[in-house]
Amino acid sequence: MDIRIAGIIPESFVDGEGIRYAVFMQGCTRHCEGCQNPATHALDGGKIMDTAEIIAAIKRNPLLAGITLTGGEPLLQIPAATELAKATKKLGLNVWCYTGFVFEEIPAAAQELLNFVDVLVDGPFILSQRDLELDFRGSRNQRIINLNEWRKANG
Ligand code: SF4
Repeated sequence: MDIRIAGIIPESFVDGEGIRYAVFMQGCTRHCEGCQNPATHALDGGKIMDTAEIIAAIKRNPLLAGITLTGGEPLLQIPAATELAKATKKLGLNVWCYTGFVFEEIPAAAQELLNFVDVLVDGPFILSQRDLELDFRGSRNQRIINLNEWRKANG
């Protein structure tokens, strides 16, 4: 399946816990003031890859704890994000996903994707709430939500 990406960091230490294969997905319409990745905004930017190519690269690295879907806005490419997340879970690895949506407002179309996500980092970057001390997020409004715990608590 095609996926439009801005870039890949095959071994990232800053996009979640452990060594992670970070996929920076291309496209975001939110344009948060102070966004660190403005080059990821153009919906027709970046380059097209095949998700199979990405999954093969993930399989080849035994050091990975998991993958991180980030961007850009991963929820603008739900089918491709779902395919990557599902394949990653099949490999016994975990999935982190960043989104500019707040958890409670995530579109229903992303439900299947969320089933394969362990940790969601939600919400837009808000410059007035920027905090350089935070782990894995840029502003205080953003939350690191353990979806496994959330599923246990909410059935
Ligand atoms: S949602 Fe993320 S990628 Fe999009 S503009 Fe905001 S900070 Fe940048």
